[in-house]
Amino acid sequence: MTILVTGGAGYIGSHTTILLIEAGYDVIIFDNFSNASKESIKRVEKIVGQNITLIEGDIRNKTDLEKVFENYSIDAVIHFAGLKAVGESVEKPLTYYDNNIYGTIVLCETMAKYNCKSIVFSSSATVYGDPHTTPIKEDFPLSATNPYGRSKLFIEEMLRDLHLSDNTWNIVLLRYFNPVGAHSSATIGEAPQGIPNNLMPFIAQTAVGKRACLSVFGDDYDTHDGTGVRDYIHVMDLADGHVKALNIIKKLSEVMTINLGTGVGYSVLDMVKAFEKASKKEVPYCIAPRRAGDIAKCFADPTYAKEILGWEAQKGLEQMCEDSWRWQSNNPNGYKEED
Ligand code: NAD
Ligand code: UDP
Repeated sequence: MTILVTGGAGYIGSHTTILLIEAGYDVIIFDNFSNASKESIKRVEKIVGQNITLIEGDIRNKTDLEKVFENYSIDAVIHFAGLKAVGESVEKPLTYYDNNIYGTIVLCETMAKYNCKSIVFSSSATVYGDPHTTPIKEDFPLSATNPYGRSKLFIEEMLRDLHLSDNTWNIVLLRYFNPVGAHSSATIGEAPQGIPNNLMPFIAQTAVGKRACLSVFGDDYDTHDGTGVRDYIHVMDLADGHVKALNIIKKLSEVMTINLGTGVGYSVLDMVKAFEKASKKEVPYCIAPRRAGDIAKCFADPTYAKEILGWEAQKGLEQMCEDSWRWQSNNPNGYKEED
């Protein structure tokens, strides 16, 4: 089976590509490199020991996409391509709606034209907004507090409407919790451009000495130590969820919406302590005001993923921190030679 992986050069896409190839799929990566480096693909090729077909293009460009579907017989698409920075989405909402929503429309139109109607979509726990309770189940109410989150919500709705209009579509919506960690080779990992927005890369860059100190956004939340609680999931576990989704995708009669999380919540200070232990480095931090739009607690009920996909996270916090540290300390500037 040939899988088109949009955004396959990015953080989650590159890790997923490895498992897809190891599972025997043929992979074609389609990426515009707006937030990725070609070096990530070179390193994936080394890990899997084979060349990977890479097509540089933009999902909003019908001609780029049609060329791919003309030249290859694609059985299914894993759709990672998208912009993901919450703060930037508030500043540039139209850029986010154009890239994420319009891009997905063009992708689905092209898929339909070439009769490829199986898609796994990267959604996010952000679609739960501020949940009334935890752990979060898939049938919880949905809402969004920023354009990034709204783009994910709209795309989910759009894909549900698409299925209503034509039930030969096979659609899996995977709602990721907080992906962290890196491949065990330490040759690929998360490489944010500029100052990281997310906690784990910020901690890792602080431990390696690139940042002076971590600002902990708020210590007065209703959590065990007052700092925000999230469900951190190892990126290789997340990648495995995609392979398992592909295993069932052709048998689906309805749109599947599935949480991919561990079911365990850790606070910011839990993460700092675990990272210090794994890296044997100090992570200096100071308490800062809450970040606008943040919620106290967010962690998954992953029961449905186990039931429907036979998937369950395997890697714990220690491994997440060790793998993040190995990647960060071996590649202090990510895929760049120097900063
Ligand atoms: P990433 O930025 O590392 O990867 C996204 C990739 O898509 C990049 O390689 C980028 O160059 C490419 N891309 C963006 N717009 C494109 C376009 N118009 N045409 C072609 N390629 C394009 O991000 P990631 O962390 O790997 O996330 C992958 C997906 O998962 C995204 O859709 C993201 O919203 C979603 N997600 C991520 C997280 C997270 O915390 N990392 C959490 C929930 C959901
Ligand atoms: N966080 C923090 N300092 C940072 C980045 C994040 O204290 O520099 C906190 C944030 O307030 C939240 C948790 O870490 O409680 C996870 O934040 P992240 O942005 O990684 O994920 P999200 O908020 O999108 O779940």
